[in-house]
Amino acid sequence: MSHVVTEPCIDCKNTMCVTVCPVNAFHEDERMLVIDPVECIDCGACVPECPTKAIFPMQRVPAQWKSYIKLNEEKAKVLPIITELKTPLS
Ligand code: SF4
Ligand code: SF4
Repeated sequence: MSHVVTEPCIDCKNTMCVTVCPVNAFHEDERMLVIDPVECIDCGACVPECPTKAIFPMQRVPAQWKSYIKLNEEKAKVLPIITELKTPLS
């Protein structure tokens, strides 16, 4: 099990989430972040840091965003790791 980043993350890039992750599980593309399910230890520390409430435990991802479970897994394999705070996009 891991945590999953979903649709509300798009164009946020607030990235407070990455500063609290103990295992550097976040990866980024141009518009959103994803969590590597292999690295994530399900600690939940990133959840309260996310202002858009985009992060869910895998088993509690809302129905309309279930496709993000696969998307996080696939994108995390190819995208660069992000570990430092960035300037938000919006
Ligand atoms: S704080 Fe939430 S919405 Fe913002 S980049 Fe992190 S996961 Fe995405
Ligand atoms: S649940 Fe914990 S380990 Fe997983 S991405 Fe969030 S902070 Fe990192």
